Amino acid sequence: MTFLSSDPFQSASDFFGSTAWSIALLLIQVFAVALWLALAYWVYQDARRRFENSGAISACVAIALIIPFLGALVYLFIRPPEYLTDAHDRELETLALESQVEGLRCPSCEGVVGPRFLVCPNCTTSLRQPCRRCSEPLDPHWQVCPYCAAPASPTQNRAVEETRVERGRRSDVTENPEY
Ligand SMILES: [Zn+2]
Ligand SMILES: [Zn+2]
Repeated sequence: MTFLSSDPFQSASDFFGSTAWSIALLLIQVFAVALWLALAYWVYQDARRRFENSGAISACVAIALIIPFLGALVYLFIRPPEYLTDAHDRELETLALESQVEGLRCPSCEGVVGPRFLVCPNCTTSLRQPCRRCSEPLDPHWQVCPYCAAPASPTQNRAVEETRVERGRRSDVTENPEY
């Protein structure tokens, strides 16, 4: 009897038949189910931030539920690379950049000018005046230099505005005979 009870196979089957083992099995199962549901929930949260279409979100959650564990992995491969908010921000940035580029045109001849041009290279219209303190080019609408905080002189601004109006008139005169 003593020989039988020390049989390693016997003790192994004792272990697997024990309540400790069945509790361990139950815990593993509970953990697996919890992980499966948590992954499905994570897929739902993540898909909500990447898809606008609610059908697509449901499909992703369904994949995560139907294929436990691997479904979430599959979702990782098929999900859109960026969040909706990021895509929206990028769109706005592109729009702002486009409008900025479009806005950089000479008011007289509509020629493209750089953001730091003092005069238009096409028609010599005065576009900006250098700051009196730091010599950075200042937009005539600015009240203060954004580079050194020196107040922009109103006479400077007026001078630029006047040249613009004059240029406008002069170009009208020179253009009229052509019509
Ligand atoms: Zn011009
Ligand atoms: Zn300045």
